[in-house]
Amino acid sequence: MFQHQFINGAVFDYPLGKIVAIGRNYAEHAKELNNPIPTEPILFIKPATSAVDMHQSFSIPQGKGAVHHELEIALLIGKTAKNITEQNAWDYVAGIGLGLDLTLRDVQDKLKEKGHPWEKAKAFDGANPLSHWLLPSAISDKNNISLQLTKNGEVKQSGNSNMMITSIPALLAYASSFFTLQPGDVVMTGTPAGVGALNVGDKLLAELHNVLRVNTSIEC
Ligand code: ZN
Repeated sequence: MFQHQFINGAVFDYPLGKIVAIGRNYAEHAKELNNPIPTEPILFIKPATSAVDMHQSFSIPQGKGAVHHELEIALLIGKTAKNITEQNAWDYVAGIGLGLDLTLRDVQDKLKEKGHPWEKAKAFDGANPLSHWLLPSAISDKNNISLQLTKNGEVKQSGNSNMMITSIPALLAYASSFFTLQPGDVVMTGTPAGVGALNVGDKLLAELHNVLRVNTSIEC
């Protein structure tokens, strides 16, 4: 079972709850998959059983087509949020870190074609590796948070929160108007362009704004 762990010695006792994620929050990523840029945030939920520790090597599904990496800024909710406003949205965030919104892309393409829900593509066991958490104060300018994913020595994804279509405070406020966010829940904030397939043996370096570096790999 996934446990929240803080890097800077903070204590957080809540178990992982749901993971609320947003689709197509960076225009360049929407374009690379030939998706229209949404006029309203696209939200979906991944269960706690999709989370694994990103600091350990992890496995990916076999025999179900391509598994894509989507590196995202992840937020750990610290207190109950329902119908919150953008202005104080960061008050509800206990931790900031990184998540991989792993996606069975071939499965998702087929589901999208038929207009079916895409849980099988995004909510499977192990579909959401999460890093350990930093206090949000570790990053002073919340409108300028960079993230980068390097695969086998090659930079694949590089982005910044200032490129988001829906900002982090706007996303928290919007999500909380549909789903009560509870302590232990995680919010995934969307992926920049550069998504691509993962294979067994790949070595990944995930970085958050020079404050967090996670080395990990894909095992069989
Ligand atoms: Zn995503």
